[in-house]
Amino acid sequence: MSEGLKELYIDELKDLYNAENQLMKALPKMAKAASSGELRQGFEKHLQQTMGHAQRLEKIFHALGENPKGKTCKAMQGLVEEGAETMKEDLEGSLMDAALIGAAQRVEHYEIAAYGTVCAFAKTLGETDHVSLLTETLQEEKETDQKLTELAQDINAQANAGKKEREPQAHPGKKKPGQAA
Ligand code: FE
Ligand code: FE
Repeated sequence: MSEGLKELYIDELKDLYNAENQLMKALPKMAKAASSGELRQGFEKHLQQTMGHAQRLEKIFHALGENPKGKTCKAMQGLVEEGAETMKEDLEGSLMDAALIGAAQRVEHYEIAAYGTVCAFAKTLGETDHVSLLTETLQEEKETDQKLTELAQDINAQANAGKKEREPQAHPGKKKPGQAA
């Protein structure tokens, strides 16, 4: 019984390790796409934290005598893909920033859920050292999410104000909300 949970635990840790590594490649692109200096710095800071998250997972794998590699987190693949689609869109300044925050918060919520799960597994398995490491990461993911919520307050308002000033642009081929096909 406990052998089964341990295998599941290791599997979920591998999924997270892959997710963190995918995010390490995506965050510099998101930082580059951000107009707000604060948002860009937020992404850069979270990149540093993300490297730490991967290192904490490596510590756990080392203690378990397991290899962290060998899994692809399909959820993170999808989230990163959606973020990349957002960045390809023709959105100006704060509107792009508002969209980037939306993409980043999806990522953080996924990580918060996944770290919550592995924390609970580690507790049940009596792996107290792992619980400390995973809780530190979980806390940083929650703080990042909170920071994004705070940044969104001004950025969303700016995006909305910008909309009123901007000339209505024709986007041939792009359907506006409420527009008939
Ligand atoms: Fe992380
Ligand atoms: Fe994160």
